[in-house]
This record gives sequence, C-alpha cells and structure tokens, in this order.
Amino acid sequence: MRAFVVARWLRRFRSRAQLERHQRRRVRRHLRLLRRRSPWFAAAPARLDELPRMDKAVMMANFDAMNTVGVTLDDAVALAADAERRRDFGGTLDGVSVGLSSGTSGHRGVFVVSAAERDAWAGTVLALTLPRGRILDHRIALFLRAGNELYDTVRSRAVEFRYFDVHGDLGERIRSLAAYEPTILVAPPSVLLAIAEAGLELRPQRVYAVAEVLERADARRLEAAFGQPFLHQLYQCTEGFLARTCDRGVLHLNEELLLFEREAVEGRRFVPIVTDFSRVAQPIVRYRLNDLLVERAEPCDCGSVLTALERIEGREDDALLLGGVRVFADLVARAMIHAEGFSQWRVVQTGAERVEVLLDDPAGEAGVRERLEALWRRQGAPAPELRFGAYAPDPTRKLRRVERAWKEDADASA
Ligand SMILES: [Zn+2]
Repeated sequence: MRAFVVARWLRRFRSRAQLERHQRRRVRRHLRLLRRRSPWFAAAPARLDELPRMDKAVMMANFDAMNTVGVTLDDAVALAADAERRRDFGGTLDGVSVGLSSGTSGHRGVFVVSAAERDAWAGTVLALTLPRGRILDHRIALFLRAGNELYDTVRSRAVEFRYFDVHGDLGERIRSLAAYEPTILVAPPSVLLAIAEAGLELRPQRVYAVAEVLERADARRLEAAFGQPFLHQLYQCTEGFLARTCDRGVLHLNEELLLFEREAVEGRRFVPIVTDFSRVAQPIVRYRLNDLLVERAEPCDCGSVLTALERIEGREDDALLLGGVRVFADLVARAMIHAEGFSQWRVVQTGAERVEVLLDDPAGEAGVRERLEALWRRQGAPAPELRFGAYAPDPTRKLRRVERAWKEDADASA
C-alpha cells in the first residue's frame, strides 16, 4: 500500500537534475545496505562506478554470495524446475519466491524475490498502470504464459483479476473473456492479435501489451480492433519493471525506480545497464540486459523528466548478422510491413548465410524477397539465401518476429 501511494501521488520530479539527485541518493543508500547484507558486495568496491558490470552469467556464478536471503543456487533451481513441471508457481523458500528468466542456449537466469519486495512491486505496478479515477472498479483480464508471482500478489488485493492461461484451448478462453467483459486487458501482442481476430465486441478501457516486442504494424491493428487511441505497454521482466507508457502513449523509462546506464550501440539505440535501488533479496546492480532500446529524438509532450523511448527493439542478439553486418530487427520489421499479400510473419536467421521467412500466405513471397534484398543492399550486407515456409501461430510460445537462431562462435566475433 505504501508503494502504491508513493508511486501514484508523491513521486513527481520537476527537473532532470532533481531526478538525478534522487537516484544518486537512493543508489548510495542501497549500496550501503547491500554491503551489510551481501558477502559479495561487502568485498566489492563501495562506489557504483567502480563495481563490475553484471550479466546473467556473472550473477549465476556468484549467486550464493550475492543474494541477501541465504538461498543457494541449487535450492533455487530445484524449486523453480519443480514449479515449472507442475505449473504451480506459488512455492517459496522461507517466503522467498523464485523465478526463471528465459535465456538462449540453456543460459537461464534464476531470480529470487522476497515477500516484502513482491508486495511493494505489486503496489507500484498497480499505481503506475491503472487509469486515474476509481481504481477499484476494474475487471482485469490477464493472458500469461507462465505463472507470475507479481500478478498473483496483485490478484489477492482489492482489484478484481481473472487469469487466462494461454496453454490449452485458446478459443475457449477467448469466449469466456467476452463473458467477463474486462475493463483492462493485459496480454502479449501475439495473444491480443488472436483475440482481435476472434471478432468479439470487446471495448476495454485500456489494453496493455506485455512480454513481447510490440511491432508498430501490430499496434495499429490492435488499436483499431479494440477501439483504443494507443496501446499501453509494460516493459516488465524478471530483472525489473523497466518502462511504462504515459498518457500520451509514449514509453518512458522507470527512472524513479531504477538507474539506467547505457551502452551506446548505433544512432539512438542503446543496451541498458540497470541498477534497481529497491531490490535487496537479489541485488540488480549494474546489470546488463540483453535488450536494445531506442531513445526518442524529441522529448515527450507529457512533460515528464523520465527518458522517453521510441521503442523497445527486442533482444540484442536477435539482430540479424550477415557477413559481420548487423541488421536490426526493427529494419527487418519495417521492410516486412511494406511488403504485401500476407499478415502474419516471422524472419529467422538459421545460418551464417541463410534466412527463413515464414508467411501465413505464400502470395507475399515475391514482395518480401524484393523488400528484403533492398534492405540488405541498403545496409551493405551480403544477401543470404532466403527460404520460405508457412507461418504457424503458437500462443504458448513467446512471439519473436525477428530472431537469430544461428549464433556465430566466439572466435569469429573477436
Ligand atoms: Zn510522456
């Protein structure tokens, strides 16, 4: 409740300088606390800018010494694996819940969250995402792939929730959604598209896209289907609640909750390195995410001092890599939406010189070939062999429209 009140009414920054003072103060206080409670931080440099960058591999290698709740990696992995097998995510280790983050080639991360953090997190997410006005009158429909302790915590509060599992008969779930008449609908874009195609007369007040990259073309389609001026987004992962949409429809970094350092990539693209100054059970300090974000060229009209994003582009390692040239996912998506004759698609790099294009209608093949070949030329990348196949939606899996399934080996990138 305290987190809810603070987030909803008190946290307003008049200037960037004021926000940055707040961040510095919170970071200093947070690191002092971590040095008292975490053996790893006790032995590490005291200043943020002297601490090593962290990523999933470093965090897993130092898991036992880094966390402040005395949980071992072995115990956490065992609990998480068991929860996944039984599809029951309510289990805890002495009140500490465990989550797995997805990762490529077996590199999955384990995250622990204390009960107090879970409550504060739920309060903050509710405060920052519910429409202004009467907050208790909402019926919130959630379509999620995995159980999520965050949403389970929220559900136990005063707000009415219904959870729809995307496993099993999705058509049946969508029909019961119509009967529920949600005021707020939360789902990954691929599931929202399936709901939109079912042609229900749904008019939720808000629609939130979560857990997948929201392509612009899909956003336009969904806005029309659900009668929304714009789609809201929650950029929320196991590493934290990183960004949210303002009332002008623009994504802003949650800089009142986290400090974002940047690794510049190209143009306004950057990889965020985050420090969450409220996570204590498992510290997230200078943690490098595998995500590409693009800063907006202009500040947002809403007047917020929080950094405005143009978009979340997706996983850094999903950019195609052709003859050493990176072709960013967003460029591929733009080429695809300019081609015609199909509506659903995926582009997957499956080899050093091979790209598979999956379309829901083969009528689009010639147009796609032309657009993609023009893209390779513009980017100065050698043209890969294109293979076409049939697109098959799978709501139980996270949709990545652009994916690099082939990884160059470590020597080649050095
Ligand atoms: Zn804004």
